[in-house]
Amino acid sequence: MKKMSLILFAALWFMVGCASGNRHTLSELESTQIKKTLGVEVFVDEEYRISRFLFWTWENNWRGDIRHLIQESSQKLENEFDVRLVLKNLQPWTPSKKAESLSHFRKMLGSEVLSGRLKRVDPVSLIIGFTGDSYGDGKAGNANSLSGVAVVKTRSDAKTVEHEILHLLGAHHSDEPSLMHPQQSRTTDEIDPINRERVKNFLFFTP
Ligand SMILES: [Zn+2]
Repeated sequence: MKKMSLILFAALWFMVGCASGNRHTLSELESTQIKKTLGVEVFVDEEYRISRFLFWTWENNWRGDIRHLIQESSQKLENEFDVRLVLKNLQPWTPSKKAESLSHFRKMLGSEVLSGRLKRVDPVSLIIGFTGDSYGDGKAGNANSLSGVAVVKTRSDAKTVEHEILHLLGAHHSDEPSLMHPQQSRTTDEIDPINRERVKNFLFFTP
């Protein structure tokens, strides 16, 4: 009899466990409504890392700063497309030679990822390089549409990161007031309707 009640107790415990587990999963789905997640891998050059050193606190939290930028960009994509960014890899990177321009820096990053010199953890993740070199061109970031690799400079805000990620998701520059305006000073928080459709098509209708 004692054995029987022990078995009954164990069965009840198991059932309660399963039920609460299911409830947790369901509530997570209901609250987020995330349709898709996109992996992001970030490679950071030495100049960027040094640039994040704060003399007044004697601390350098470059990893925290980048996590924050990706988190903010993810929130934007969640609000606009129900798509979430997942930071899968965040590591220092020393390019094999000095880049001549920001687009050269992007191409070097792309070829090092392609050649396997830079190890990625997910073959379909978006690649973002962060650099502390100004290249003297006044640009905040650089990416080609659907190219898979974007770069941004020190002091870039989340809007720049979002702009470059949207390029990777199919957006082009727009002359309309938009997050996709080519001039940083003229970008807005909104995504223009044409680019919204481009990105939606890429996210949800590309096989
Ligand atoms: Zn752009």
